[in-house]
Amino acid sequence: MTAPASLESPVPAAAGRPRILLLGGGFVGLLTARHLLKQLKPGEAQVVVVDPRPYMTYQPFLPEVAGGSIEARHVVVSLRQALKGADVVTGAVVGMDPARKVVFVQPQEGEQVEITYDQVVIGLGAVSRTFPIPGLMEQAIGFKSVEEATACRDHILDRLDAAAVMTDPAAKKRALTFVFVGGGYAGIEAMAELEDLVRASVKNHSGISQDEINFVVVEALGRILPEVGPEMGLWSLHQLRERGIDIRLDTQLKSIVDGHAVLSDGTEFDTDTVVWTAGIKSNPVLANTGLPLDKLGRLTVRADLRVAGEDGVVEGAWGAGDACAVPDLTKEPGQFCPPNAQHAVRESKVLAANLVATLRGEGLTDYRHKYIGTVASFGIGKGVANTFGFKVKGFPAWMMHRAYHLYAMPTLDRKLRIGLNWLVSGMGLTRDMVAIGRQTRPREDFVAAGAKPPAPRPVGDPAPSKS
Ligand SMILES: Cc1cc2nc3c(=O)[nH]c(=O)nc-3n(C[C@H](O)[C@H](O)[C@H](O)COP(=O)(O)OP(=O)(O)OC[C@H]3O[C@@H](n4cnc5c(N)ncnc54)[C@H](O)[C@@H]3O)c2cc1C
Repeated sequence: MTAPASLESPVPAAAGRPRILLLGGGFVGLLTARHLLKQLKPGEAQVVVVDPRPYMTYQPFLPEVAGGSIEARHVVVSLRQALKGADVVTGAVVGMDPARKVVFVQPQEGEQVEITYDQVVIGLGAVSRTFPIPGLMEQAIGFKSVEEATACRDHILDRLDAAAVMTDPAAKKRALTFVFVGGGYAGIEAMAELEDLVRASVKNHSGISQDEINFVVVEALGRILPEVGPEMGLWSLHQLRERGIDIRLDTQLKSIVDGHAVLSDGTEFDTDTVVWTAGIKSNPVLANTGLPLDKLGRLTVRADLRVAGEDGVVEGAWGAGDACAVPDLTKEPGQFCPPNAQHAVRESKVLAANLVATLRGEGLTDYRHKYIGTVASFGIGKGVANTFGFKVKGFPAWMMHRAYHLYAMPTLDRKLRIGLNWLVSGMGLTRDMVAIGRQTRPREDFVAAGAKPPAPRPVGDPAPSKS
């Protein structure tokens, strides 16, 4: 790709030390860097992490952030605090030139910069996979970041507050209809946590009754939760339907212009809320890296996690996590590891060990991990799990979900904050129902303080025209 105008490096050169540059500070970036910092001898290499966010997000906890069981800041880990000894660059990778071993980075402000490397790790993750559905880009929100999870929660609680004083039945129905597109574990967990939150919150609203709440899941295939297997997927479907959730299988969202939903089964209704959780695709910025990609846009890597094209490996380039097609050596040839944290965590360990081995001229290890299964939470005290072939339902599955993810959450600080939060919430049996949606409009009160207050109007009096 074309070199940017300004090429000053934001990272001080480390004389004589090879530079390991990690692109993305998510699961792969953070964990690989931590392993490296533990294993490298003093002065053996410089570790640099680039990410537009100064924090790593523990995505498996996003549904609980939306549901109010975990505080949003507790599911993110400060890269600078967690990676003492590494350099952290806050900026977005926009491309690279593997022949020159440079990466082009757009900082938050100013012109693009160039960072050179000896070894580069691609851990750029995945983004929401969308389709050209009329109105989708204007109406929907994804569920991949802590910002999106918090916004979903605040928006839904805001709709309850608004609906509670609505006198127009059609407007009220629209405000209380919540649509989720996609029935994989991320989408179902997010929907179920939010439905649980809404049911609990409605108890405190005198203007809304439970039977006015309408949660709709639109799933293109004939099943939900493929990750827990057919039997547990079917059990989950029945459980969620019993809760009154309208799950439409073999159905697609055709249009959502101005909040008017049209489904492929002919149903039409209005909604203020569309959450898009219908799958992911590899980070599109990979197309600007000059590295070999497969038909799905994933970086092709070997089992030892070196980037590989048809002509052999790309010198000094490595990849892992959702951005990459990592061969699954526990299955027949041609199969790849599914994009999940379970693999990303374990790949990071092998990746760091292989980077250190490369610096020391030692042999490489292949990544091999047999998938241990999935745990999913559907709201407080509810869940499903299928791990090591053991199928668990309800409360025990929910406890397994919490225990596993608390164990896997990086840093002791975050584990303690989340664990204590659960304890304070009455052994985890209540949730926080406050939404501070106004924090996205913090100047509103200050501006209003300097303006004339609006005059009261008798009922039926038309609002004065703005012209
Ligand atoms: C709601 C939800 C629930 C989930 N639940 C589970 C679960 O229960 N179990 C499980 O195993 N997995 C779960 N996952 C999947 C899991 O979180 C991912 O597989 C995992 O995060 C992948 O790690 P990664 O490092 O490849 O990508 P990520 O963790 O997504 O990290 C990618 C990083 O790259 C950064 N980045 C993006 N673009 C750029 C750029 N241009 N330049 C620099 N940096 C960039 C991002 O900011 C991010 O920090 C869930 C995901 C979601 C969304």
